[in-house]
Amino acid sequence: VLCVSQNFDFYYIVQMWPGSYCDTRQSCCYPKTGKPAEDFSIHGLWSNYNDGKYPQNCDRGNYFDESKISDLSSRLVKDWPTLACPSGDGFKFWEHEWEKHGTCSESILDQHSYFQSALDLKNKANLIQALNTAGIKPDGKFYSVESIKEAIKDSVGYEPYIDCNVDTSGNHQLYQVYLCVNASGTDFIECPVFPHGRRCGSEIEFPSFSSSRDEL
Ligand code: 5GP
Ligand code: 5GP
Ligand code: 5GP
Repeated sequence: VLCVSQNFDFYYIVQMWPGSYCDTRQSCCYPKTGKPAEDFSIHGLWSNYNDGKYPQNCDRGNYFDESKISDLSSRLVKDWPTLACPSGDGFKFWEHEWEKHGTCSESILDQHSYFQSALDLKNKANLIQALNTAGIKPDGKFYSVESIKEAIKDSVGYEPYIDCNVDTSGNHQLYQVYLCVNASGTDFIECPVFPHGRRCGSEIEFPSFSSSRDEL
């Protein structure tokens, strides 16, 4: 059989902490639409295989078409902001995520369903509330990776994977949270496999994203 459609097993929904994207050596630029809220934001909904490998750029002919998601634009601006420099309105980021990842599950989620699913999953996870409930706040303090994972597991019901990065002072910090999602994009599942990532260290910083330092 010729390769007609890219199959995949599950998704990662990857959410990032904007404070940890911005306080690194690379820094960040706020979107043209304004500084995002102090909340996790979507990085992407990534199709994956159970063995840890993943497909990408599966259909060069299925171009990103912003007219297909115009009804979602206010939610995308709020929950899927771009923080890369130079400042953008988000369309380049969404286009990149659709073309690299979204096209690999186009037989299951078309463009509109793909973005809507990611937005719905982000709301459902409500990571900032899950952490808040456990007393874990973006206050620049250090928390154990275990306690962060536990708080998310208690609230969402499934174990997340925590991805860390390093700020300009060399502190390891909470950067991204991965949760696994079934292939229809509707429900969280236990992860068939965790990404092979960087080490966090046992205690990591949860930096703020609200101080006056941010008035760039
Ligand atoms: P990084 O090396 O920063 O972790 O990942 C760079 C990019 O590779 C990500 O933004 C994403 O597009 C892709 N990527 C990394 N890990 C995975 C993965 O486990 N699954 C999928 N589908 N994409 C990944
Ligand atoms: P990935 O790592 O998903 O393959 O690629 C992310 C791409 O989207 C990079 O080219 C990055 O510059 C761009 N991008 C635009 N805005 C953002 C953002 O807010 N966060 C991240 N992680 N990447 C962004
Ligand atoms: P174990 O699986 O034995 O608990 O942990 C093995 C290693 O993986 C330890 O260094 C632990 O800190 C790390 N680890 C466990 N869960 C995560 C996670 O969600 N993210 C990252 N980056 N490391 C983790």
